[in-house]
Amino acid sequence: MLKATKNIEELSPEQAQEIVTAQRAFFKSGQTLPYRFRRQQLKVLKKAIEAHEEAILEALFLDFRKPHFEGYATEIGVVLAELDYISKNLESWMKPRVVSASLLNFPSSDRIYYDPYGVSLIVAPWNFPFQLMMNPLIGAIAAGNCAVIKASELAPHTSALVAEIIGECFDPAFVRLVQGGISTSQALLEQRWSHIFFTGSVRVGIIVATAAARYLTPVILELGGKSPCVVDETADIKLAARRIVWGKYINAGQTCVAPDYILAHRDIKDELVENMVQVIQDFYGENPQQSPDFPRIIDGKHFERVSSFLGDGEIACGGKTDAEDLYIAPTILDKVRWEDRVMQEEIFGPVLPVLTFDTLDEVIHEITERPKPLSMYYFSRRSQRQDRFLEETTAGGMCINDVVTHYANPKLPFGGVGTSGQGAYHGKHSFLAFSHQKSVSKKGNWLDVPLRYPPYKGKLEWVKRAFKFGG
Ligand code: NAD
Repeated sequence: MLKATKNIEELSPEQAQEIVTAQRAFFKSGQTLPYRFRRQQLKVLKKAIEAHEEAILEALFLDFRKPHFEGYATEIGVVLAELDYISKNLESWMKPRVVSASLLNFPSSDRIYYDPYGVSLIVAPWNFPFQLMMNPLIGAIAAGNCAVIKASELAPHTSALVAEIIGECFDPAFVRLVQGGISTSQALLEQRWSHIFFTGSVRVGIIVATAAARYLTPVILELGGKSPCVVDETADIKLAARRIVWGKYINAGQTCVAPDYILAHRDIKDELVENMVQVIQDFYGENPQQSPDFPRIIDGKHFERVSSFLGDGEIACGGKTDAEDLYIAPTILDKVRWEDRVMQEEIFGPVLPVLTFDTLDEVIHEITERPKPLSMYYFSRRSQRQDRFLEETTAGGMCINDVVTHYANPKLPFGGVGTSGQGAYHGKHSFLAFSHQKSVSKKGNWLDVPLRYPPYKGKLEWVKRAFKFGG
């Protein structure tokens, strides 16, 4: 079994600079540009992941008792599906895309080229430690970049194993994984990158964006926040309860797209809570601490933070904690108010507050008063209300009558908006996230329309007409 990597040496800014310099030279050599190279690297990665499947599941288990089922379904399976989807489509995505010429630049052959940015820094969180390093990396490779991954220090078993896998697969001048904590992250962020892809908290997202601004480095921020889940009086309550409990307590609530809190219509609130309590028991038994399917909190700091919410509202179920075991029971807090502490920050743990509403107007008002969420969920049988909700609120992504599952479709861009993030990835959007779309207008020499050249006398009417007919 792997040892936890507690004694990892932090990277100095000088070492970070050496890494960037080596990768820049590799990128400049042009090796990453051909389709065949990219395809081959993705193949090598896939083979290595398949070969290490058991070890990855075990590392995830050691980091926070993630059950093997969740380890496969939410990490390995998702990554292999992304690898297959991107590998299958990459050649066609890489081809310059032809667009029609405009009347003003006619005659011209116009195309969009997809250029790799160069050397990308990928900074990862701990909560889906395998997937959230691998999926951005797949995008970076597919788009022809070199990449440095900064793994999370809070999931040391997975970070060490992925470092091993990356080391087996790639020349470090092409792809390299760096382990370490905040000072390593800071040393890396001091460097000039061609592109930064960050997944983590809003607080650190601001630090990353500030560092990127120094060199005007393009940055993708996959952040968090509070994701509301609204259940109205027309919803299928039993089904809603099952889906919400699944999405909330998977990964012990340490999921960026988990429903953070419930807004339930007053008429069905009690019924919903009763059903959710029952579903928790069905899923995890009388004592979820004994369940092999319920993970632990990642560390003592997060344990303290999440436990501190348990004083708010009234405990409808759960509430039990065990610091030694980093265990917090799947908990529902009833009768929570907007001003309670649990409503002031992202929970990121197995605690689900329930608030009550009377009208959809009220829901829309409360949601749009607050920062734009990463995800939002609405359970209702009324399609008119669903439409109104979709039109009058915004979020990174949404599900109607479900939670979390929008994340699983590689054809949907995944990302936040406002404080929940900027930019998106998954599938083709990952390829685009790591590519610069270069516009090219290619001219022949045989015709040179004189309209644009001075003297302009007598040409204004013609130019107005050209704009009118489609510019
Ligand atoms: P975090 O922001 O604490 O850490 C993320 C990374 O940043 C880690 O690698 C860490 O070492 C580094 N880091 C931490 N402090 C830093 C600092 N001061 N300067 C530079 N680097 C620093 O986040 P986390 O606790 O690992 O993850 C949880 C957060 O991530 C939650 O807010 C969650 O919603 C969010 N998240 C978002 C997504 C998404 O796809 N949008 C996915 C997973 C998690």
